[in-house]
Amino acid sequence: MNAPTPKAPDTNATADHKVSNFLRQIIENDLDKGTYATRRWAGSPGDATHHAAGQPDPAKIRTRFPPEPNGYLHVGHAKSICINFGLAKEYGGVCHLRFDDTNPEKEDTEYVNSIIDAVKWLGFDWAQLGQAAGSAAPYQASDYFDFMYRAAEALIEAGYAYVDEQSAEDMRANRGDFGKPGVDSPFRSRTVTENLTRFREMRDGKLDDGAAVLRAKIDMASPNINLRDPAIYRIRRATHHHTGDTWCIYPMYTFAHPIEDALEQITHSICTLEFEDQRPFYDWLMERLCECKLLAAPSPKQYEFARLNLTYVITSKRKLAQLVNESKVSGWDDPRMPTIVGLRRRGYTPESLRLFADRIGVTKSDSWIDYSTLEGCLREDLENKAHRGMAVLDPVKLVLTNWAEAFGSDGYTEDCTQPALPHSAIAEGQTPPADRMFKIGKEVWIEREDFEEVPPKGYKRLFPGNVVRLKGGYVIECTGCARDAAGNVTEVHAKVIPGTKSGTPGADSVKAKAAITWVSVADGVQAEVRLYDRLFAEAHPDAGGKDFLQSLNPDSLKVVTAYVEPSLAGAQPDQKFQFERFGYFVADRLDHVAGAKPVFNRVTGLKDSWGK
Ligand code: ATP
Ligand code: MG
Repeated sequence: MNAPTPKAPDTNATADHKVSNFLRQIIENDLDKGTYATRRWAGSPGDATHHAAGQPDPAKIRTRFPPEPNGYLHVGHAKSICINFGLAKEYGGVCHLRFDDTNPEKEDTEYVNSIIDAVKWLGFDWAQLGQAAGSAAPYQASDYFDFMYRAAEALIEAGYAYVDEQSAEDMRANRGDFGKPGVDSPFRSRTVTENLTRFREMRDGKLDDGAAVLRAKIDMASPNINLRDPAIYRIRRATHHHTGDTWCIYPMYTFAHPIEDALEQITHSICTLEFEDQRPFYDWLMERLCECKLLAAPSPKQYEFARLNLTYVITSKRKLAQLVNESKVSGWDDPRMPTIVGLRRRGYTPESLRLFADRIGVTKSDSWIDYSTLEGCLREDLENKAHRGMAVLDPVKLVLTNWAEAFGSDGYTEDCTQPALPHSAIAEGQTPPADRMFKIGKEVWIEREDFEEVPPKGYKRLFPGNVVRLKGGYVIECTGCARDAAGNVTEVHAKVIPGTKSGTPGADSVKAKAAITWVSVADGVQAEVRLYDRLFAEAHPDAGGKDFLQSLNPDSLKVVTAYVEPSLAGAQPDQKFQFERFGYFVADRLDHVAGAKPVFNRVTGLKDSWGK
């Protein structure tokens, strides 16, 4: 897609206020009319008798999230998960996590497990939501292979399907195109008996892979190419991660998906716009299978919404795999990846992703969402949650040369306290968290950029003669610096002004021009800080058919050795902080060891630095 203007996020959406959209309207309308009120649930899904009258289905609506377990989920899937699970939750329904595992070669249990993790982490648990269906396990298409096979035979018997043995090339050529109607296959007029025999031979492994397909018999002249006798079964000798070698024929996705929905009594089958042209086949199949008495009305209905397109981000599974396989990133969970495992490791929270899904809303037309919207949701979520802390990312030593004179000895240290959250972040009635404690001593680490021997105009931080506060500590007066042979500053010198400590009566006795962040040499802890930035330097990395690898941001990761205050060094893995003045950081889930080996990832800066 080329670069249209980004869609403005709906800032009316908050965690507690949902903005209406066309899907909500459809659902509310169905609930009003009782469209699905007569549904009955009996037996287990996949059981052909499921449609027989049984106990009433207690769920008002049923949605599903149907990933194919062939890769890791990404931020676009997060949108779909939030929509499907979110709607079910809101309207007293259930949502099924279902693996659409009809493609044995590409699928794997590694992906199955990562998808389960991602859905749970986002805050949705199908085991709770789906319990009404009597199932605590995720659903999987492969559980229905027997039923699908029976459905295929039923279609054959009713004259709605035939085994086609044209070569792949002939089949393609005979399908026609937009301007040209298709041509009937010479196999289209086979008898029911002939079709049944041949289909069973396909199933029994008597035909080679690709030698034949079962096709729905609809209309080779349909203006919708998806209705020109689509393939519904193919021969593929591949071991399935769930059914093993039971089958050598597998249903096509477009055939399998509506059946999965129907067997699970899904009411609203919500998918992305690219399936719009498939809807007529979805409905055709539902009608035929009801006619064959394999399914019962009311059938599920498909609704399409616009997929998420996010600037600076790629969501094609194939291209994400390429980034991993060509080692452009460290893996699927590289904190720069838009995968859910990547976002999680980067420091995104489930709350921020759910807020993002609410903000971007659901529409029927494609648009681009600006990446800053995602970052904004994270900031909004962490603003009142993430404890504050000081870290020095580009350290140079500051020596308080009159320390012994002021406090009696060079080794003297004093405790400082600062609130973990600012006053504004504490809700009424909420107990504030315990204060942070850190020490101040003769030597502290400060940012290299906080000293200038010859200050540029307007510079308010350390330069000889200037008076500055060490935030939460003392006011100091800069006296100069030491340099090495190459002229680099090796130490900054200053004098502490006793009696000016923050929080004491004398704190305001001397006016400081600025307050700077610092970490004491006495109790500061060395930490690895990974300064992540956007993976791509261009808003539309794959626009206009260009090679998306050319758009990689060469500065998307810079690793620095920093010093952090003790409250940060002792963080639990995955704990988020606001490093004062720098932005939001998270203790890396995998590499951070509390106290022993602190490792932090930058999630995002305090404000958008990419804006125009
Ligand atoms: P594939 O090309 O392998 O089919 P996919 O991204 O469509 O990739 P699925 O596992 O089929 O992956 O997706 C599961 C669900 O997530 C589908 O219903 C799909 O419509 C939805 N989905 C995928 N990408 C996005 C996106 N960018 N925005 C919103 N929903 C998405
Ligand atoms: Mg898909």
